[in-house]
Amino acid sequence: MGLSKTIWTNPTEFLRAQGPETPVLFFAPTALQAAARRFIDGFPGMVTYAVKSNPIEPVVENLAAAGVRGYDCASSYEIDLIRRLAPDAAIHYNNPVRARSEIAHAVERGVKSWSVDSKSELAKLIELVPAEGCEISVRFKLPVAGAAYNFGAKFGATAELAVELLRVVADAGFIPSLTFHPGTQCTDPAAWDAYIRTAAEIAADAGVTIARLNVGGGFPSHRLEGLAPELEAIFDLIGRVTGEAFGDSRPLLVCEPGRALCGDAFTLAAQVKAVRDGGHIFLNDGVYGAMAELPLIGVIDRIEVLTPGGLRRRGAPEPRIVFGPTCDSVDRLPGEVELASDIAEGDYVVIHGMGAYSTVTNTRFNGFGDLRLETVLSQKL
Ligand SMILES: *Cc1c(COP(=O)(O)O)cnc(C)c1O
Repeated sequence: MGLSKTIWTNPTEFLRAQGPETPVLFFAPTALQAAARRFIDGFPGMVTYAVKSNPIEPVVENLAAAGVRGYDCASSYEIDLIRRLAPDAAIHYNNPVRARSEIAHAVERGVKSWSVDSKSELAKLIELVPAEGCEISVRFKLPVAGAAYNFGAKFGATAELAVELLRVVADAGFIPSLTFHPGTQCTDPAAWDAYIRTAAEIAADAGVTIARLNVGGGFPSHRLEGLAPELEAIFDLIGRVTGEAFGDSRPLLVCEPGRALCGDAFTLAAQVKAVRDGGHIFLNDGVYGAMAELPLIGVIDRIEVLTPGGLRRRGAPEPRIVFGPTCDSVDRLPGEVELASDIAEGDYVVIHGMGAYSTVTNTRFNGFGDLRLETVLSQKL
């Protein structure tokens, strides 16, 4: 995926001038920096970025420029990336399962914050990580509904185990903290409420005053036309409930959004390869490309259709079956997608809010996936 040095006014200008036959992601640095500022100004604690959601260099560089000082990393590759692009930033190594060689690598790179959700992995950390000035956050889970899918299926200790782990962390001389991840695209602030209250109970049961509470990612991006994310309502709830639940032993707060920082900063344009017998739409990008996430958490409806000349199609929205370019029949957008009725071969389907889990999950399956990246001043068509 190459990034050209030209900055375009908006996606329309590029599409009209270049007529690309490969899918294009348009990156708007101004939108990314605005999202970063919204978090830094509104969240009552430290804002870190979940690197996995979009690790391309211009994203990290723009977040660092906007004032993001911490990064949630899950692998040696991500740790090295952040050390290179934001050398002074804090790295939180929050993948609770690590090979011994990965632990050693992170110690060498000066990582001072780790998460853990099991006795066996905690034993490895105690053996390999010097405790001095180092934080270990115990990750716990709850059976909470409200997220787009269940993150507790893979990671997180039960509250009972978390009590035990937290005591061991404190006894071993590490800075004890707690963390959770409520899911992804959590539009309901209540997703955080029960987690924060349970964190306070875990700390009390363990008899440990925690230094920090990391409330995870999961903040929503703008995926549905009529449903703009209400981040400030979530920030307010997190601040209020932390005060209520912890009282005098209130920990510092940390969050680690991915999607909510990068999602709205990218717009995808995919070209219509064919309108098969007037019905099914075939695009040059699909679920093996930048749209990998749509079958998992649902389609984005912030879609516009442009002619090759850059004019907006005005036909009334009509539900269509939309396929990607590969020969695999699962390469289809979920359900049916409302598209302008006069959509035609050669048009561009432009989907907003495509910055998260898109650049990084794009594959070359079946020889497709030649995804371009272009920079724009504005995403308005
Ligand atoms: C994936 C992940 C995040 C980011 O999730 P978003 O839904 O993109 O905000 C944050 N924390 C952890 C531990 C994760 O695994």
